[in-house]
Amino acid sequence: MNDMQTVKVALFSPEQDRSYPIYIGNALLEQVDLLLPHLPQKRVAIVTNTTVAPLYLDRFRRALERYGICSVAIILPDGEDHKNWQTLNLIFDALLKQRCERKTTLIALGGGVVGDLTGFAAATYLRGVPFIQIPTTLLAQVDSSVGGKTGINHPLGKNLIGAFYQPRMVLTDSATLTTLSDRELRAGIAEVIKYGLIRDADFFMWLEQNITGLITRNADILNKAICRSCEIKAEIVAADERESGMRALLNLGHTFGHAIENAMGYGVWLHGEAVAAGTIMAADLSKQLKFISESDFKRIYSIFQKVGLPVIAPKLSPDDYLSLMKLDKKVEEGRMRFILLRRIGEAMMSHDIPASTLRETLLTCMA
Ligand code: NAD
Ligand code: MG
Repeated sequence: MNDMQTVKVALFSPEQDRSYPIYIGNALLEQVDLLLPHLPQKRVAIVTNTTVAPLYLDRFRRALERYGICSVAIILPDGEDHKNWQTLNLIFDALLKQRCERKTTLIALGGGVVGDLTGFAAATYLRGVPFIQIPTTLLAQVDSSVGGKTGINHPLGKNLIGAFYQPRMVLTDSATLTTLSDRELRAGIAEVIKYGLIRDADFFMWLEQNITGLITRNADILNKAICRSCEIKAEIVAADERESGMRALLNLGHTFGHAIENAMGYGVWLHGEAVAAGTIMAADLSKQLKFISESDFKRIYSIFQKVGLPVIAPKLSPDDYLSLMKLDKKVEEGRMRFILLRRIGEAMMSHDIPASTLRETLLTCMA
């Protein structure tokens, strides 16, 4: 357990303290002593998928056994296409058949899809059972496992059905990233860069200096990047758990990004890839509005380029972009909301972007 780091997500409400720890380190998967204090019963249900199970499930179950914890395993089909009611029902069927109780903890072992599905199952099974996340993609480790958003997709849109439901703890073993594809790793790095841009200029500079180590999965660099990303997300979520204000800053690049994902068909561009191109569009807007300089813009462009993420948005007419952006969940009373950079390390929200400025950005940033 060398060099394990702990990030605390501080969440207090009048009724209860729902704060929880995120443990981050290399080779933590078998560190069951970290889980023990959070298990009300020596029985758990592990939800994972057909890709992650052959890699990590047996090892994890054997470690649990050594501590006298018995487990039920629920192995879902892999993919965003399965983040739906049918798959959610597979989880409920298995939990009921195996007579899982109110005190049986649900553990999500996998990427964001498994985490979102399992969290929503935990929020609703028997009106709520304990939940633990063991995220195994970089995106899940820095983003989806932190903050308590859970849910599934609807045929009419992504993540439209869900609940806020916080886990008891998150166990992040960065060694699981050794088996992740390069493309998924890079997509996760897009969100890491986002954290630096919106809140921490020093972290952004550190990323510029260590980007090769991150791409080549240097363990120390990965751990530090995951840790700082979780700290930033945790601070923002603690300040605004239900996204009434500041949490929106986490959506830098996402209004454009969602339009790209939607236009290309979900799954053609990974979310992180769309966020990369979308962040460059947000940076271009910020530059046009004279918040950031040309040289800041170049730094942003060049870090995404070094990672091998898309820096140019797919070609669509500006009107197509605009109508896709208006579909975004975050549109309020018909007004489009943009997250801009006041400077590197500080994001801001704006509802008042002149139409001509927006068009200029769309035209400049497209292929
Ligand atoms: P994912 O869960 O689909 O995982 C990507 C791929 O990697 C999958 O094929 C998966 O099986 C595989 N995989 C997972 N771990 C692996 C490992 N260690 N080694 C090899 N392969 C592995 O995708 P994702 O990017 O992790 O998550 C995306 C999902 O997260 C989306 O559904 C998105 O809506 C959601 N999300 C939620 C939040 C939130 O706040 N709840 C935030 C961001 C994203
Ligand atoms: Mg995102």
